Amino acid sequence: MKPPLFDYLVARSSEEAVKLLSEYPGAMILAGGQSLIPAMNFRLAAPAALIDINRISDLRRIDIVDGNVRVGAAVRHRDLEQNDAAFAANPLLRAALYHVAHVPIRNRGTTVGSLCHADAAAEMPMVLLLTGGWVTAEGPSGQRDIPAEEFFEFHMTTSREADEMIVSATFPGLPTGAGHAFAEFARRKGDYAIAAVGAIVERGADGVISSARIAACGISSRPVRLSEVEAALVDTKLSDDDIHRAGELAKQSVTAPDDAHATTAYRQHLLASLTRRVVRQAAGIMKES
Ligand SMILES: Cc1cc2nc3c(=O)[nH]c(=O)nc-3n(C[C@H](O)[C@H](O)[C@H](O)COP(=O)(O)OP(=O)(O)OC[C@H]3O[C@@H](n4cnc5c(N)ncnc54)[C@H](O)[C@@H]3O)c2cc1C
Repeated sequence: MKPPLFDYLVARSSEEAVKLLSEYPGAMILAGGQSLIPAMNFRLAAPAALIDINRISDLRRIDIVDGNVRVGAAVRHRDLEQNDAAFAANPLLRAALYHVAHVPIRNRGTTVGSLCHADAAAEMPMVLLLTGGWVTAEGPSGQRDIPAEEFFEFHMTTSREADEMIVSATFPGLPTGAGHAFAEFARRKGDYAIAAVGAIVERGADGVISSARIAACGISSRPVRLSEVEAALVDTKLSDDDIHRAGELAKQSVTAPDDAHATTAYRQHLLASLTRRVVRQAAGIMKES
């Protein structure tokens, strides 16, 4: 199918893009177009105008600011995946991006576009939540930071206002010495996750877990932190029983109903298994689930 008629506008600066958003009610930002253009072709989206932000050079920057990775709105997934400074600050970015679609799509699709699209099974919204990151929105009255917890409201729904553009996303660097892991199950390599889990674990010299952050996607209407699992892991030495219990607790976070890809019970099974795997891997204990 072909998309409905739309106006095509090219913004040369963030200010111009934001101005155009206010001037054209029903306009949408065009980043990589890997989700928006198919949606228009299927007539699931019918924007009055597309505001192309790909020529705004400021938005193509990846900066390390105070140890955090700031990703501009026009940065392609693939550029972030291959950026060594970003990898050094937060290796989870590369680990997760490997699972996002295929290389040709990552060559064009943007990481901020993925956050704005906010598919509940998408990897990068989960990584933003896992790492305690935020997006920076620019609107007619200036910029504001929106923490990941407040940004992702529901499947394909964020707290961005209609007259705001997201200019960047900031993924905090991992704490020195923290262990990390990312694991995903999808029907085929490059598909959206049926379930994926990420973990950041810190361990004292005595082997006791001092902090644990665990998040998942594909199992609910938005990416979620597995708070009960995190709390259960802290102050343990990660015995087999501790890890088994973490997997059982993780099952409670599955709220996705049965769908064409998996039943709720199967997602619970996956989430338990993936959680045990990432916790072991992040803590440096490799063992079969
Ligand atoms: C075959 C296929 C497989 C895929 N598999 C996966 C996968 O496994 N995991 C995954 O996460 N993704 C997957 N994707 C999606 C891919 O990651 C897209 O790149 C991403 O979802 C959207 O990025 P984009 O730059 O293409 O955004 P676009 O398609 O240009 O925009 C997406 C939406 O975000 C809005 N938007 C974009 N940028 C901004 C901004 N700066 N401010 C405000 N709103 C903005 C747009 O208006 C639109 O509503 C897949 C895509 C395809 C075609």
